[in-house]
Amino acid sequence: MDPADTIAAVATAPGRAGIGIVRISGPKAGPIAEALIGKVPSPRHATLAKFADGGGETIDQGIALFFPNPHSYTGEDLLELQGHGGAAVLRLLLKRCVELGARPAQPGEFTRRAFLNDKLDLAQAEAVADLIDASSAAAARGAMRSLSGEFSARVNSLRDSLIELRGLVEASLDFPEEEIDFLEQGQVVPRLMTLRSRLREILTTARQGNLLREGVRVVLLGRPNVGKSSLMNRLAEEEVAIVTEIPGTTRDALRRELAIEGVPLHLVDTAGLRRTADPVERLGVDRAWAEIAKADILLHVIDISQNPTETPEEIAGALPAGPVKISVFNKIDLLPEPLSRVGSSSEAEVWLSAKTGVGVPLLRTAILKAAGWRESEEVPFMARERHLAALTLAAGALQRATEQAASVELLAEELRVAQVALGEITGEFSADNLLGEIFSRFCIGK
Ligand code: GDP
Repeated sequence: MDPADTIAAVATAPGRAGIGIVRISGPKAGPIAEALIGKVPSPRHATLAKFADGGGETIDQGIALFFPNPHSYTGEDLLELQGHGGAAVLRLLLKRCVELGARPAQPGEFTRRAFLNDKLDLAQAEAVADLIDASSAAAARGAMRSLSGEFSARVNSLRDSLIELRGLVEASLDFPEEEIDFLEQGQVVPRLMTLRSRLREILTTARQGNLLREGVRVVLLGRPNVGKSSLMNRLAEEEVAIVTEIPGTTRDALRRELAIEGVPLHLVDTAGLRRTADPVERLGVDRAWAEIAKADILLHVIDISQNPTETPEEIAGALPAGPVKISVFNKIDLLPEPLSRVGSSSEAEVWLSAKTGVGVPLLRTAILKAAGWRESEEVPFMARERHLAALTLAAGALQRATEQAASVELLAEELRVAQVALGEITGEFSADNLLGEIFSRFCIGK
């Protein structure tokens, strides 16, 4: 990836649309404009122009926009051609740009250049992809917050305080006999405590953002006919944000994507669990157990109107320890006094009727709780697993630093570790392979 290259790509989604955009970034953006429309458009002004092919014939007519470096998305000369949104037209336009010396861009290459030219830090660049991929309004708001730099600003301000403290601690290393005074005068321990509490706040908000991005895997399980599928339909139908219904790759697992308060739920319905001699059904049951093993939350559905031959305890005892379990007592409409039972619902037990819908809101609340979602006024900023890992690493280092405050060398080392971890979030210290991994997940043209 040579920055001297000029890259080009169709930046709009494939298919038919009113407008389609080809983006060109790099030193040849200006010369390509000259060849295509006969001039370099005046900076940042919409210029109506005809886009010509090699033989001088018009491919399309549209708007050309030119952003000279460094005031562009990538920080390089950037040309945007807004033509009609037809696949053939855009392909011809891109082909012409390549003939004129551009090369087709890799996924995320425009944003990667923006990062390399200091237009965005790494957390902001990731937020660009997260904003594009956001599946709910809440996720989009979180991504926008990160993109605007709020997450980075919080991380950077923490890192700056850490650097200041490090300076103080390292200076004291030069005066070993006065070391302890030095640390006391510098209020090192109280400052460490403040840093730790600021870090905890960031981590909490970032965890919420990560939940909005990743969602939770919720698996419905239980004996056959207890109402798992009815409950899945009920959860989905009450949700405006149902996105898709994907028949599972497994014969008996049905998947649905929905969202509760913007938290994506990857819901999986499984084959009823029972002992069976039928090999096909056995396969479904095995697959159900495989789904159960991967879940974050298990909804163990029990038909309250039945006297099960295999008791719910038998299934409950076989469940893995990791996921949060919620026992869902279904079909309370068949009980003589259903509503009194709804009142006895708790976080771990919900009484409801998939048929009438009574009690279902309680289940939704219990799922959000189990997922770790906390209602808060603050919009979380979008965060990825790698951000959480770095924040957790920094938190561990600061904790050890507090415990080892008596040894200045160890203290200094832990502060260094924490600083490096925070720097990884914004890309201050990041390996090339990490960058490759991050940007390769972008769409082409972004
Ligand atoms: P699954 O095999 O566990 O997925 O169960 P289904 O969702 O297919 O439901 C089995 C039967 O129970 C169907 O006839 C449903 O209509 C019925 N059922 C499910 N939930 C309820 C409920 O809350 N109340 C009543 N009365 N019947 C229900």
